[in-house]
Amino acid sequence: MRKKRILKLSNGREVKIKYKSPFVGMANVFGIKVDYVFYKELTSVEQEAVIWHELFHKEKANKIFFLIKTFFNFRKAAWLEEFAADKYAAENFGKENTLRLLRKIKKLYGRGLVNYNPKTHPPIDERIKRIKEIKLK
Ligand SMILES: [Zn+2]
Repeated sequence: MRKKRILKLSNGREVKIKYKSPFVGMANVFGIKVDYVFYKELTSVEQEAVIWHELFHKEKANKIFFLIKTFFNFRKAAWLEEFAADKYAAENFGKENTLRLLRKIKKLYGRGLVNYNPKTHPPIDERIKRIKEIKLK
């Protein structure tokens, strides 16, 4: 497994990702990291949906997150950021592709391959429901 690689998105954009356990996908201002579940369990469509979700965390969320955190508690802020990242993935990569990823994550939670942490992520059924109901331009 190469530690760093470039993933080319369907719109032609190239994104640098780094291999690092234990997150399927994780991003902060420094970059995007993915783990073995990303490579071993996800289809290329699901992988791209993860990257769009993580791009939101890396590029869009920091200022919003800081503001929200000031007014709400941490869990609420984290959940709102996750919903927004899912929405961003749906807007950029399609609702169905994003739903595919979320349904896969639900299976991975069920198999114990990904640990669900309610402090950082909303319930997966709620994430699925919100993307299903989303209206895209
Ligand atoms: Zn996220």
